[in-house]
Amino acid sequence: MRIVLIGAPGAGKGTQAKVISNKFNIPHISTGDILRNEINKGSELGKKAVKFVESGKLVPDEIIIEIIKNMIRKSRSENGFLMDGFPRNLKQAKMFSSTLDHLGIKLDKVINIVVDKDEIISRLGKRRTCNVCKSVFSINNNNENFIKCPECGGDLIKRKDDDVEVIKHRLEVYESETRPLINFYTDKGLLVNIDGSGEEKEITERILKFL
Ligand code: ADP
Ligand code: ZN
Repeated sequence: MRIVLIGAPGAGKGTQAKVISNKFNIPHISTGDILRNEINKGSELGKKAVKFVESGKLVPDEIIIEIIKNMIRKSRSENGFLMDGFPRNLKQAKMFSSTLDHLGIKLDKVINIVVDKDEIISRLGKRRTCNVCKSVFSINNNNENFIKCPECGGDLIKRKDDDVEVIKHRLEVYESETRPLINFYTDKGLLVNIDGSGEEKEITERILKFL
């Protein structure tokens, strides 16, 4: 199974990606998680990426393409993959298509999770990530900054790019860079639109109907 998940920041790609990749036993490839991990490690790649990630800009395509080529190579021996956060613009999508063609691999579906803008701004403002186990939570009160992870007791922190001004910028980047992928994959006959509102489980059910 080879799946690409697209959708605005905060649409719930990461949450759904975890459930679906477990169900089909395929690697969950999140370029955002890979970049944040490199940044935390302080690697060369992380050093190059940090200013883009923290300000909500796209990391340069050359860096992303390198990451993806490695991941595709690794995942060739597996049952496929689930891409979360890649491709993010037309250049990446075209490069991805030609890499897959070259390897004789076809995508099964591109799932577009649709959520409206006000809902996204509200969700991202409330999003907290555990600094130990990396679980993602939604807090009830926007100012509650120092609560602990219910899973492991780690500190829940707000991603730097979940600051309200950065969120607005990420949404603009989504509109201009990422939204064109909807037409790109519609033309290829791969796109499925999924309503991303409601409970996590309901959204998973909606996606599974197409897989
Ligand atoms: P979200 O979808 O909530 O914005 P991600 O974790 O997917 O979160 O991405 C966080 C940041 O990582 C992006 O704002 C961008 O800086 C960088 N990033 C992730 N994937 C890509 C990509 N494919 N191309 C360029 N930059 C990326
Ligand atoms: Zn935790």
